[in-house]
Amino acid sequence: MVNVEDMQKYELYLQFLDKKLKCFFEEQAPYIHCKEGCSFCCEKGEYPFTEIEFAYLMLGVKTLDLETVKIIEKNIIQLKKQNEEYNSDKPFMYQCPFLVNHKCSLYNFRGIICRTHGLAFFSKEGKLLVPACVDLGLNYSNVYDFENQTISDEKYRQSGIKQEPLAHNVGMHYMTNNEFLDSIDLKFGKIKPMIDWIK
Ligand code: SF4
Repeated sequence: MVNVEDMQKYELYLQFLDKKLKCFFEEQAPYIHCKEGCSFCCEKGEYPFTEIEFAYLMLGVKTLDLETVKIIEKNIIQLKKQNEEYNSDKPFMYQCPFLVNHKCSLYNFRGIICRTHGLAFFSKEGKLLVPACVDLGLNYSNVYDFENQTISDEKYRQSGIKQEPLAHNVGMHYMTNNEFLDSIDLKFGKIKPMIDWIK
């Protein structure tokens, strides 16, 4: 159960996190081609959320107008139906129900993973991965080797861009276990896909 004190600590953490991510986005700007109206990152995913993140997201729902809430409720009903009908061993990937008219309806309350959308990142095995929108000719596509599915050193050199394309530690493990969190003693609670919190 998340209490008011936890929520205050989480808000403090978000301030720290947003500053850190702003630096990453500025550094990687030559490779970031996110555009107004693009919601690709929110259209297919699992969206892992910790308990405190989901509680904060729900706090955001209280700030929405009735019309938006109705759209979200409809999205959730459809999503649950799709999930019930889903029959595969692979994880269920879905459009986030809080995406309304291609915009995050809870932008200021969005989760940690949402704040990293668009950046290159490391897989659990330590491999550098780029966002899926590379296939749309967007992020990192200017230095991507599509055949070998990796950043191309050659394309980077030819691009004339000074800043290297880099991945940062933006995985959920690092984001919910780091030195700043130790200093404020913030516990995130369980982590599970967003849909499992909604159920
Ligand atoms: S909460 Fe917002 S940013 Fe996060 S996946 Fe949903 S629509 Fe996208």
